[in-house]
Amino acid sequence: MLELKSPSEIEEMTLGGRIIGALHDELEERVRPGVSTGDLDAFAEEFIRSHDGAVPIFKGLYGFPGAVCISVNEEIVHGIPSSSRRLREGDIVTVDVGVKREGWCSDSARTFRVGRVSSETEQLLEVTRRALEAAIAQATPGNRVGDIGAAVMGTVEGTGFHIIRDLVGHGIGRKVHEDPQVPNLGRAGEGTPLHEGLVVAIEPMIAVGTDRIETLDDGWTVVTRDRSLSAHYEHTVAVTADGPRVLTATVEQAAGSGYNS
Ligand code: MG
Ligand code: MG
Repeated sequence: MLELKSPSEIEEMTLGGRIIGALHDELEERVRPGVSTGDLDAFAEEFIRSHDGAVPIFKGLYGFPGAVCISVNEEIVHGIPSSSRRLREGDIVTVDVGVKREGWCSDSARTFRVGRVSSETEQLLEVTRRALEAAIAQATPGNRVGDIGAAVMGTVEGTGFHIIRDLVGHGIGRKVHEDPQVPNLGRAGEGTPLHEGLVVAIEPMIAVGTDRIETLDDGWTVVTRDRSLSAHYEHTVAVTADGPRVLTATVEQAAGSGYNS
């Protein structure tokens, strides 16, 4: 069952989404060698709660201990923040943030560089970011969920990198995970229709060496089976009559890159 949102509900969702966009910009300034993932988590929680009515969704969700998920290098998703996990020069770190504000959820992830990274790592980040951009462009009325996955596949094809197939995007609204599932692969023109008012979290996860994954003994952290690096970019996107609208963009991103704000 698809929950379609009215234009005024999408406005409400944008107010929460903008908090994540601003938080990611703040985190970018704070990610550097020596900082712990616990430090970043504490900053994120305080930042989110400093906005009236906003709470971090992931805290306590299914028992997750952090306010946000912080995944380093071969960790793909659901990394647990820790004061003993310090970032090192050349690492990459993904901060996946869910915010609930006035009952509406939004969800967005970015992968950050820690200091200088290798050229292969740069390429991984670039391909993943481009995959998200291409996928977002497909979020228009009349298209289908398969168009989103096909756009991710088209971007990654020929790069030698691997799409993580077992983890998918999702509808989002009153709940953080709603129908439909939004896979990072698919065939153009197939799958659930993207009706005006549908809001989805689009989230390509791309790895250097494999598409196979496993969960560590902590019960949370999902890693690449070969321990190669993986990157993850995610935005919450509304399908509107005017095209895709990125609810978790910063005001600057929305103004600068054609994101319909
Ligand atoms: Mg997320
Ligand atoms: Mg998500």
